[in-house]
Amino acid sequence: DEAQITRKFVLPFSPELEERYSRRLAIITELKNTLEHAIGELSLNYQPKLDLQKGKVTHVEALIRWTNARLGFVSPEVFIGIAEQAGFIENITSWVINRAIDDAAKFRDAKVDVSVAINLSAKDIMDPALLPRVLGLLKAKNLSTECLSFEITEGDLVKDHDKAISHLQAFRDQGFEIAIDDFGTGYSSMAYLQNLPVNTLKVDKSFVLKLHQQDGDQKIVKTVISLAHSFDMNVVAEGVETIEALTLLAEWGCELAQGYYICKPTPADNFITWYNENLNTKWL
Ligand code: C2E
Ligand code: MG
Ligand code: MG
Ligand code: MG
Repeated sequence: DEAQITRKFVLPFSPELEERYSRRLAIITELKNTLEHAIGELSLNYQPKLDLQKGKVTHVEALIRWTNARLGFVSPEVFIGIAEQAGFIENITSWVINRAIDDAAKFRDAKVDVSVAINLSAKDIMDPALLPRVLGLLKAKNLSTECLSFEITEGDLVKDHDKAISHLQAFRDQGFEIAIDDFGTGYSSMAYLQNLPVNTLKVDKSFVLKLHQQDGDQKIVKTVISLAHSFDMNVVAEGVETIEALTLLAEWGCELAQGYYICKPTPADNFITWYNENLNTKWL
């Protein structure tokens, strides 16, 4: 009966819940407004990935930043998930791709030889218009597909597996590198890895942050490295905050390292300066 339905479906009122709900709404409203009117609240920061064999930076990850007039700084950890659920992540991805490709051209012109990695969401991968758009934008800037790469969290790929795989394969066929982001925290099984058209596993920072102090993390990271290598994939470790972690990763044959020990995410111009200042840095 009606009373039962009410009991079942109406959430109990709590001030915290209401506060979370209205903050969420504010984020949706403000973010949509920001995207629609291009009011300059969004930016990209870049964080280098160090090739441990070459001892130089070969890749850089684009990380979005948003500082809103009303809400202040909002972490992508918060607003990306909300935009996904609210159904407008594609608009953010479009903005990111445009800006990242502009910056990739800027890096090329400054003789900064790096591939720019863009984070994609599940919805983005399912969009058949994404690949042709990316190719068009690269062509307009006279950039090759090696100038851009992609990162996708593993959970995203489980939903419509076959379609995701065929779309990723189309990106790989064009020569784009694709990494599984936050590897080790999601749903992957061995069988699933075998079929994925990706060339890199990115070990989640939770296993790397305290690497030199935690025996369990060391076991996990070593295992991921050997798993990746047996599938002919590269490994990136994110969250490298210490020389100890960097040394262990190099010893174990991890290809790339990213983290505060090397460089924090920073605007494009700062990154160019940093890159030139560190051309001769001996990292290990
Ligand atoms: P992610 O792709 O796994 O990015 C790595 C996160 O770790 C970044 O957080 C980076 O700033 C942080 N990080 C890097 N090195 C270190 C370190 O040494 N120590 C610590 N403690 N943290 C480190 P950020 O920039 O806050 O981004 C959070 C997440 O938001 C990203 O995780 C990604 O999932 C998402 N995101 C960021 N930008 C975009 C974007 O343009 N599009 C989409 N779809 N998602 C994005
Ligand atoms: Mg990432
Ligand atoms: Mg990650
Ligand atoms: Mg992450």
